[in-house]
Amino acid sequence: MPHHVKNVIRNDDNKTIMSYKINEKGYYGEFGGAYIPEMLYPNVEELRQNYLKIMAEPSFKEEFNQLLKDYVGRPSPLYFAKRLSEKYNTKVYLKREDLNHTGAHKINNTIGQILMAKRLGKNRIIAETGAGQHGVATATVCALTGIECVVYMGEIDIARQAPNVARMKMLGAKVVPALSGSRTLKDATNEAIRDWINNPIDTHYIIGSAIGPHPYPDMVTQFQSIISEEIKWQLKEKEGKENPDYVVACIGGGSNAAGTYHHFLDNEDVGIIAVEAAGKGIHSGESAATSVLGKEGIIHGCKTLLMQTNDGQITEPYSISAGLDYPGVGPLHSHLYKTGRGEFYSATDDEAMNSGLELTQLEGIIPAIESSHALAIFKHKTFKPNDVVVISLSGRGDKDLQNYIDYFKL
Ligand SMILES: *Cc1c(COP(=O)(O)O)cnc(C)c1O
Repeated sequence: MPHHVKNVIRNDDNKTIMSYKINEKGYYGEFGGAYIPEMLYPNVEELRQNYLKIMAEPSFKEEFNQLLKDYVGRPSPLYFAKRLSEKYNTKVYLKREDLNHTGAHKINNTIGQILMAKRLGKNRIIAETGAGQHGVATATVCALTGIECVVYMGEIDIARQAPNVARMKMLGAKVVPALSGSRTLKDATNEAIRDWINNPIDTHYIIGSAIGPHPYPDMVTQFQSIISEEIKWQLKEKEGKENPDYVVACIGGGSNAAGTYHHFLDNEDVGIIAVEAAGKGIHSGESAATSVLGKEGIIHGCKTLLMQTNDGQITEPYSISAGLDYPGVGPLHSHLYKTGRGEFYSATDDEAMNSGLELTQLEGIIPAIESSHALAIFKHKTFKPNDVVVISLSGRGDKDLQNYIDYFKL
């Protein structure tokens, strides 16, 4: 890697070390930035100039933390999974984001962004959604704050995800079908961007993962970093030390992973493990193993690794898990992959489904299929008996029950 793209910081001994946090220009190494149409510049620039200032305000922090506690139900438990640990002969802890209000980690980010929007004087929210999980998390915080909410969703996804569409409507959101292209997530994203260009003054766009133009990946990561902040003190209570040997998370766009890694990134003693969706097999043509298969390109306003054809057209991803069915990864993760700081694995549909069933029967916890991919790490890596391995259980499996039923013929 050429020297000039490194993010360089100094540690206590004034030695130069690599930083995995974002630099002033909005890059993680060579990835990130803001590649946006000129028409979108004022919106993104307004956010960029204000987000750090707003997040540092005591009143912002207070309101954010209060809602995380009383509304989301944080801190989420760090649970020692005894039987799973015995089975794999290592010490496994699960970070229980599945116990959050609305059933996953996504609410941490939407709470943060709705408070940000209020302070920027916005009274209208737009969002894109694929499977509907981010749409529901966004509609939820709009109901909570009484702010107008418009969610763009591909026409095909609307048909596939009826319960989440009903939830969003019940929460008062307007769900607008994206009718162009493949009528899925990327088309919904295009519609949301078009809306934002047309409504630059009163509207905030809540992006649902650690993706998009700078400052989104950093802002989303910071809102989600409550996950690793809690892991540190919870592990101190349970193991007498703040740092695990490994943190493990599944990666769609990469927000639960970014939050799980954040406070450990610059501590090289903590191994960073990412699990992507291999679908029907990495080289089957039906996969979402973005880091392995991806090449550098621009998606949703940032430079990152994405799955594309030789002439740069984005390839349709595939995974049994809707939340991992995304053709790119956030720029932080491209950087972790490229520098070797992160170990990247990918789990097939079959491995994930079986790992989900295994957790259910060993621990009495039905995980989201996304999270089941992280649990499939045990099919790819053997840990030492004394290793402390913290796995992000990003969401609960209620939404996936029909998938589990069909797969296991229950
Ligand atoms: C959306 C979702 C994911 C994937 O999104 P990231 O931004 O990669 O975290 C993972 N798990 C669950 C439960 C989700 O709902």
